[in-house]
Amino acid sequence: MRLLDTIAAIATPPGVGGVGIIRVSGPDAMSMAQGLFRGRGLLPLDPPLSERPGREIHVGYVISPPSGEIVDEIVLLVFRAPHSYTTEDVVEFQCHAGPAVMQRLLALVLAAGARLAAPGEFTKRAFLGGRIDLTQAEAIGEIASARTERALSAAMGQLEGHLARATSSLRAPIKHLLAELEASIDFPDEIDAPSSERMLETLEALGRQASALAATAEGGRLLREGAALAIVGRPNVGKSSLLNALLQAERAIVTEVAGTTRDVLEAGLSIRGVPFRVLDTAGIRAEGADLAERLGIAKSRTALGEADVRLVVMEAGPALEPADLEILAAAMQAGPTLVVLNKIDRHPVEGVLKGLPSGVRAVAISARTGAGLADLEQAIYDVAVGAALAPVQSVAINARHHAALQRALTSLGKAHETVAGGLAADFVAIDLQDAIEILGQITGEDLKEEVIDHIFASFCVGK
Ligand code: GDP
Repeated sequence: MRLLDTIAAIATPPGVGGVGIIRVSGPDAMSMAQGLFRGRGLLPLDPPLSERPGREIHVGYVISPPSGEIVDEIVLLVFRAPHSYTTEDVVEFQCHAGPAVMQRLLALVLAAGARLAAPGEFTKRAFLGGRIDLTQAEAIGEIASARTERALSAAMGQLEGHLARATSSLRAPIKHLLAELEASIDFPDEIDAPSSERMLETLEALGRQASALAATAEGGRLLREGAALAIVGRPNVGKSSLLNALLQAERAIVTEVAGTTRDVLEAGLSIRGVPFRVLDTAGIRAEGADLAERLGIAKSRTALGEADVRLVVMEAGPALEPADLEILAAAMQAGPTLVVLNKIDRHPVEGVLKGLPSGVRAVAISARTGAGLADLEQAIYDVAVGAALAPVQSVAINARHHAALQRALTSLGKAHETVAGGLAADFVAIDLQDAIEILGQITGEDLKEEVIDHIFASFCVGK
């Protein structure tokens, strides 16, 4: 039996809008709504909500019980357990969205005995109630935070259960193998243990399958966090202009004065459906820099280290400056780098091209006219994303899933060693049991409460 209290929260974003929703879930949701809601003729619903089937919509008013004063005209949605978001009795008050009216309504529900919901608590109850598994609960959080269509479709795939199925298609054969082993341990005279060859073969196949699933973590990270892009180069080569051209929005300051883009500015950009975090950086220029500039330089160096791809912007023209090559060397040392030869509307590129070290990929553009930008976007995508994401990716796991898969792979590896070493079936069984448990943690079975709480804490209130 579940003994949960009744929780309430404003489920819509703060501010003024068409409709604001207050969500209430738990054993007292129906009686609370019955007390606060008035239908036609300002009369309480008859028969009362507790005697109705649920999945109903009522139009009427919320009143303040002691005085009977009308607080707002609302639509009341009623869902009966277990056919609700949380699997509990749920009512939703759809009222006029505004800070005063929403707060007043929430206060009335709280005065009626509800507790203010913690972040993600409605979804947590859906998980605890067994309606969704943990990967689906995580997907609900990711749908809201998805910044591009591709990130959204990966989250939707997870909500539909793609990852849960991939996990159980790993877990089921291990369970099967364990059952066979245990039967042979318990009834050695009647049941033969599976042959070593077959066990090794199964374990190897499972290892390959788990590794393939684990390999989707990089794509998952790119879709969830965005790929990080650092733009560096001497002052005035056109870094801010390039960023603006990429964003097609005036987010960074463009100026004629050298060294003025001092902050590492994070801006959102989407290339082929993958979100990018753009780290615009101050010009790296060691000499003659004032304190603010030197701080900017330090930030630039950090950005270089964090980025998935580095753009070193240079000015097209007859020759490179020594500083261009210094910055390029620093970038290339930090990781995959692209050279962007800017201002081709004004200067030829042949001279600077000759001065570049061999093997470095360079793209000629004009931030002013937009020439070459499509090629640059393709090059950025190739370097930062490359093979990490397939054109249609049905599963892209997160860091938590990845950690669990790595541990499951370790257990499978140990089981393989044990079988290959000819050790007793009991030892193999222990490793298989471990792998089953660890894989179960991905979908939320065998998971400690504090880990579950930690996952839901990143949700917003009302979700
Ligand atoms: P940053 O210091 O590297 O961020 O450089 P800015 O983006 O502030 O650009 C410096 C100057 O170069 C500005 O006057 C820009 O208008 C100009 N500029 C930037 N890109 C281009 C380009 O592609 N062609 C031309 N002709 N000028 C550009």
